[in-house]
Amino acid sequence: MMVKIFDVSMRIEEGMPVYKNKPEKQPNIRVVQDFDTAPARESRIDIDVHTGTHVDSPLHMLPEGGTMETLPLERLVRPCRVLDLTGVDGGITQADLEKFEIRSGEFLLLKTKNSFKDEFDFEFVYLAEDGARYLAEKKIDGVGIDALGIERSQPGHPTHKTLFRADILIIEGLRLKEVPEGNYFMVAAPIKLVHTEAAPARVILLQGIGE
Ligand SMILES: [Zn+2]
Repeated sequence: MMVKIFDVSMRIEEGMPVYKNKPEKQPNIRVVQDFDTAPARESRIDIDVHTGTHVDSPLHMLPEGGTMETLPLERLVRPCRVLDLTGVDGGITQADLEKFEIRSGEFLLLKTKNSFKDEFDFEFVYLAEDGARYLAEKKIDGVGIDALGIERSQPGHPTHKTLFRADILIIEGLRLKEVPEGNYFMVAAPIKLVHTEAAPARVILLQGIGE
């Protein structure tokens, strides 16, 4: 069996793209001891839980929402479908999504122009409120996007809230440049933080296995 692996995760390192290029969102990774003074090397990290590729839990936007450990792994390790939305600028709307024949229970990954940019883009492509409402009507299980935010500059965060209220999982910060539109088996594994509203994740897509 030939299985192709696509690693669709961001690299976590100092100088990486962070939301709105805010310096306080940069990861801090430092060596706390090294061979000059100790028999082993050890490093420490200080990062925002929304760093790089990550999964949001409903608590991110809903005060009564669930924390990371309430998200069953079965909803993150499962078949998914990559949609090619690279022709869209600005917000992804219902009209952009209608042609894909979206089915209830699907996990959709939105591939946009964002995947082809290595720097943070203040005009990044996002999911518009009416696009989120359409996905909620379709009763999908989850949605991922190749931006550090699934929405941008919408007062009150209607996209996040619409999705979370419909119990739709959200993955942000995917890198989909190398991934053709189609079906894959996804392994999205957030680190096992508890009581938080997000966690960084390694996300891989497998082609040729249980799609
Ligand atoms: Zn987030």
